[in-house]
Amino acid sequence: MARYTGPACKLCRREGKKLYLKGERCTSGKCALDRRHSAPGQHGANNKKLREYGRQLREKQTAKRYYGVLEKQFKNYYVEAARKPGITGENLLCLLERRLDNVVYRMGFAESHKEARQLVLHEHIELNGKKVNIPSILVKAGDVITVRENFRNSEKCKALVESAQTKTAPKWLEVNKDNMSAKVVTLPAREDIDFPFEEQLIVELYSK
Ligand code: SF4
Repeated sequence: MARYTGPACKLCRREGKKLYLKGERCTSGKCALDRRHSAPGQHGANNKKLREYGRQLREKQTAKRYYGVLEKQFKNYYVEAARKPGITGENLLCLLERRLDNVVYRMGFAESHKEARQLVLHEHIELNGKKVNIPSILVKAGDVITVRENFRNSEKCKALVESAQTKTAPKWLEVNKDNMSAKVVTLPAREDIDFPFEEQLIVELYSK
């Protein structure tokens, strides 16, 4: 289960947009992108205009980095999305949205995708009453996701619950904050994803 371990803010600066990889810091005055808008590296300040391929590549990298997925796995999602009926770009985003780590993030019980992934890896989450440790599991309609009993009394969990009170879950999830659980009411649709992806650019890139 490989993952990116380098500096998160560098990824936002590379894409030129906030990917919200660091929780609270992203909305505070400490956000690296707010303070320094140029891309990282020696030539980062050169404001190069992207060509068509560059725009497609950047959009793919944005989606990959936002959901914390590496190249090969992302390509597999694309292949799966292209196989399904409907619009491939929308299918792709809806598949990514159904990842268990993303669901924990959307429930409000993690400050970032990275933290949600950690909660799953550390077996603090149950899916339909069973302990799980695979962040890439895709949830289905009717699935119930719960924070495990033995984690609930920890200081970390209490802090997460407190910050969850201010967050709003998407309508495809029915979240019970007191019970620390959520039910997948229906599968997510494109309009449920509020990050401004231009998914058709990713499809164009992979269709070459
Ligand atoms: Fe990105 Fe958050 Fe870092 Fe800002 S603070 S650059 S949004 S990871």
